[in-house]
Amino acid sequence: MIVPIFLPHLGCGERCTYCDQDIITDIGEVNLEARIAGVLASRKGSFEVGLYGGNIFGLTPPVLRRLFSCFYSEKHRITGFRISTKPVPLNPEVIEILKGNRVAIIELGIPTFNDTTLNVLNRGHTAEDLRRAVSVLKSEGFGVALQVMTGLPDETMADIRETAENIVCLAPSYIRIYPLVVLAGTRLADTFTARRFEPIFFEEVVERTVFIYLAALKAGVKTVKMGLTDNEVIKERIIGGSYHPAFGSIVKSTAFYLAVMANLSKHSLHGEVLVTLNGRDIPHLIGHKRANLKRFRERGVLITWETSERPPDTFVLACGNKAIDGDIFDGLDPAVSAIDG
Ligand code: SF4
Repeated sequence: MIVPIFLPHLGCGERCTYCDQDIITDIGEVNLEARIAGVLASRKGSFEVGLYGGNIFGLTPPVLRRLFSCFYSEKHRITGFRISTKPVPLNPEVIEILKGNRVAIIELGIPTFNDTTLNVLNRGHTAEDLRRAVSVLKSEGFGVALQVMTGLPDETMADIRETAENIVCLAPSYIRIYPLVVLAGTRLADTFTARRFEPIFFEEVVERTVFIYLAALKAGVKTVKMGLTDNEVIKERIIGGSYHPAFGSIVKSTAFYLAVMANLSKHSLHGEVLVTLNGRDIPHLIGHKRANLKRFRERGVLITWETSERPPDTFVLACGNKAIDGDIFDGLDPAVSAIDG
């Protein structure tokens, strides 16, 4: 079990244009120790701690030591830490402190590998900084995960492909994918309300996320989360972009729909089609609020299903005397297959 502790903007320095959290520049500014003690006291047994919401690499060594000292009284119950951070600055002393405090996994934020967009987002680092950080951290024995985004300003499919290619090449322990949301009060919101940034449609953001999700999965990289959850965002502050509480499930069911449709089209199947699949994939076949079944019907396909012990993400389509084997990668096969691991 991971106990998340959110450290809004701790160590961020400059602010990314899309981000809006209460600013904390030093842990002394809030009673962080009491907050941490309260969170840990409410948990039973042993657990891992996740430090999220800021830029741990941006902390000075004394501040970072003070942060970890907040956990000393519970250290016998803490199995280790994972942290999220920007890939800069890469300070050897900070890395030593992280090692000394049993940090096992470092999640690096890299919204895109397009340097122009990183600059527009005011990230304060380049794609090369990220690659250097991954290399150094892996050589120091850390597990490295990546947090990427979709639906960014001026984003193209070439950017999405580049993100997918880098994920495959860097082979992180896992990834998280966040579609961009526009929050009131951010610099991005100013651009949005001045109509200098027009987000792409939700469906397109979903399909771009599907692409990254499938490319990573095909290379053996799991996506542990897609989209912000309710407790990470104040919904009233969202004025644009792609927020949906079931975003991850919509991405997975879209991937399944595209894969089934690709096989139906390729083999000219229509009418009544029986899908045999792992029980875990039934929600992916049906879709969020049964959206996939409706889309199949609109294309002249009446879907029924039965479960079997076959591997998740695979299926057999039976129609008349035909039985077609497929898997989740079939919908985007030409594009995803072109990305070599
Ligand atoms: S996105 Fe992360 S690094 Fe950027 S300002 Fe927000 S908390 Fe800091």
